[in-house]
Amino acid sequence: MDKIEVKNHEIQNTNNLNFMGNIKDIGEDHWMSTIETPLKKDAFELSDQQKIDQIAKHFRSIMDLLGLDLRDDSLKGTPERVAKMYVNELFNGLNPKSLSKVSLFENNYNYNGMLVEKDIELYSTCEHHFVPIIGKVHVAYIAKDKIIGLSKINRIVQHFSKRPQVQERLTIQVVKKLIESLGTEDVACIIEAKHLCVNMRGVRDTKSSTITAQYSGTFNKQEVKEEFLNHVNLESNFDF
Ligand SMILES: [Zn+2]
Repeated sequence: MDKIEVKNHEIQNTNNLNFMGNIKDIGEDHWMSTIETPLKKDAFELSDQQKIDQIAKHFRSIMDLLGLDLRDDSLKGTPERVAKMYVNELFNGLNPKSLSKVSLFENNYNYNGMLVEKDIELYSTCEHHFVPIIGKVHVAYIAKDKIIGLSKINRIVQHFSKRPQVQERLTIQVVKKLIESLGTEDVACIIEAKHLCVNMRGVRDTKSSTITAQYSGTFNKQEVKEEFLNHVNLESNFDF
């Protein structure tokens, strides 16, 4: 893995989104308007099945307009498959209910060092082009009274990934959720990802990737940040 060097990407105040100029430009029209995923008030009035039926109908029209013959055996089930995949899998993180309560444990060992969960697999979807964002997420926190089950960190990352996303927003949403759940500001998250909308279309840059980082609390201190980056850059070999 290439060494990660993150410079000047710190966001100390999530209410102040002046960091956009610091994050590497990933292509045309990639910008984020709000930290919260913009959802309509009536977003969950339809049932999942009603959404699947409607989306399948509209996706069928898209395929039809593209000139595809939907009587073909291979194509005829596609609209419904896509609709189910959108509602039940790729975008089921839009519904806050899909993230079960984050259970915490007492920090009985009084472990007060840094906990790093690295190389969490990321599969998300670019909200500007609806094509995949693929990458890795590294999360760290310094425990106070409570600790979190490790698999919960993965669940939080997955939950916010299963939405049409912007990488910057995803990074902030993961950090915000951890701050809220853990009752500590000392949280950090780095995401390195490839955006297929940049790689397979547009500028067709197949090599580039994008790094976003958000540091909160004590992670804004240079030495704490460096410790985190050193852990992330550590070569771990578990091929046994
Ligand atoms: Zn895109």
